Amino acid sequence: MGYILSEEGSELVATVRDFCEKEVKEQCREFDASGEFPADIVRMGAEMGLSALEVPEQYGGTGIDAVTCAAICEEMARADAGFYTTMSASGLALRPVLIAGSEEQKKWACDVLLEGGQAAFGLTEPMAGSDSSNTKTTADKDGDEYVLNGRKCFITNGGIADFYTIFAMTNKAKGIRGISAFIVPKGTPGLSVGNHENKMGIRTSNTTDVVMEDMRIPQSALLGREGMGFMIAMKTLDMSRAYVGAGAVGIAQRAIDESARYAKQRVTFGSPISGHQAIQFMLADMAIKTETARAMVVQAVQRQEMGLSYATESAIAKCYAGDIAVQVALDAIQILGGYGYSREYPVEKLLRDAKIFQIYEGTNQIQRMVIAKSVLKGK
Ligand SMILES: Cc1cc2nc3c(=O)[nH]c(=O)nc-3n(C[C@H](O)[C@H](O)[C@H](O)COP(=O)(O)OP(=O)(O)OC[C@H]3O[C@@H](n4cnc5c(N)ncnc54)[C@H](O)[C@@H]3O)c2cc1C
Repeated sequence: MGYILSEEGSELVATVRDFCEKEVKEQCREFDASGEFPADIVRMGAEMGLSALEVPEQYGGTGIDAVTCAAICEEMARADAGFYTTMSASGLALRPVLIAGSEEQKKWACDVLLEGGQAAFGLTEPMAGSDSSNTKTTADKDGDEYVLNGRKCFITNGGIADFYTIFAMTNKAKGIRGISAFIVPKGTPGLSVGNHENKMGIRTSNTTDVVMEDMRIPQSALLGREGMGFMIAMKTLDMSRAYVGAGAVGIAQRAIDESARYAKQRVTFGSPISGHQAIQFMLADMAIKTETARAMVVQAVQRQEMGLSYATESAIAKCYAGDIAVQVALDAIQILGGYGYSREYPVEKLLRDAKIFQIYEGTNQIQRMVIAKSVLKGK
């Protein structure tokens, strides 16, 4: 089971797996408990290029194929979903630049990530999560500058980013067609980091408010044209969702690994619990769900790579993988019995981490709306 990869892809994924086993997996369990940010681990991951996976070859990226990229996302999340979230959030923030930015903006943003920097995607606000049309952050034109005011919340890498892609209203009267996207370097006067979230899961990732108070940025910070922001954000999310699915598959795979290892060791009624059919069938169902989710991820990322339509497939992959990650993590807790419920063992963390995959980058209800719309259109 797993991805079918090229020789080069297999070697790359093996290198990432080795790094995650040695430097991420156990270390991040401690950071999960303390709630501290694993800055050194993130630095090492960025130096390996894990936050620059989306950088195209023409801007200095590795040019890895989509399935290898998904397999790397899975490996990172298998070790620690918070670490995966940190690395992938930089790619999420880069996508709007790649979609609509000028050559100069693309080169600058890619260089930041290639040099080991991080980035943050700033769409969500206190009153605008699923419903971006309620965006309250404003960007008012003043001569050849924009002046931004507002507050973004739940922003991954909000406190550590070297640049931010920010979505703000340039024309309130136009609703979602009045949203524009901007690229903002850290340290811009008027930009500050607000509340740090104390989360149930992916505790090794940094999630903060990002506050803008009379933040002046030049006209050249606009991505594309005024009013393109909503389209840019939706395209970004359509593209990234399949890879979010890969992250969820990583958690499910880890749950299977931990369950199988434990089931072979734990003895009840004179035999290992792996000999009981009830446990075997649970493991089989966990594997069926995980392998199905992985196949959906492959389908979605390959369609994207081949230039075919992919939005519905991405939504299906993200939604299904997020749902099964939660189910499979719950099953792992059941297989470990009382020990599964204890923080001494790693599977309760998997459940806490898995839950976010049903929420971020569009909740699974929103994914179902996207999928249903496509079904009803007869696509
Ligand atoms: C740890 C974490 C990291 C995040 N990282 C980022 C980030 O980097 N950048 C960023 O911009 N955002 C980020 N987010 C925000 C995330 O994408 C939003 O939380 C998510 O989109 C949901 O928005 P909301 O929380 O406002 O929920 P709401 O939109 O208020 O939804 C509440 C509930 O209602 C449901 N619902 C809403 N509308 C409908 C409808 N029409 N039909 C049916 N059900 C509906 C939702 O599915 C949900 O269950 C992050 C969130 C978290 C928790």
